[in-house]
Amino acid sequence: MEDEALIKNHRRCVSCRKVAPKSDFWRIVRQHPGHQLVLDQGMGRSVYLCRNWDCLKLAQKKDRLSRALKVKVSTVLYQSLEQRLESQQQTSASANLQSGDCGVTAIN
Ligand SMILES: [Zn+2]
Repeated sequence: MEDEALIKNHRRCVSCRKVAPKSDFWRIVRQHPGHQLVLDQGMGRSVYLCRNWDCLKLAQKKDRLSRALKVKVSTVLYQSLEQRLESQQQTSASANLQSGDCGVTAIN
């Protein structure tokens, strides 16, 4: 039953186990060869994570990515995901302010 849900481009979050279209998730890839960890691209073993703080923090706390990928996941990777979340929030915030932006850039 679960496999059926996963067939049509659906994936499962490594933290909360939610199943959703894979476009809803971040993809963390352990590249082959080299075992380098990359986001969103490359071939290799992949895990999927919801794009929210709860799942990110849970994954980090429980070391879910390391377990799923069978490789040590550094805090740098979690930090880069945190930065993504922050920039997403900033992007949506600045979009709301866009009409008031006069576009002047300070030059030193
Ligand atoms: Zn999740």
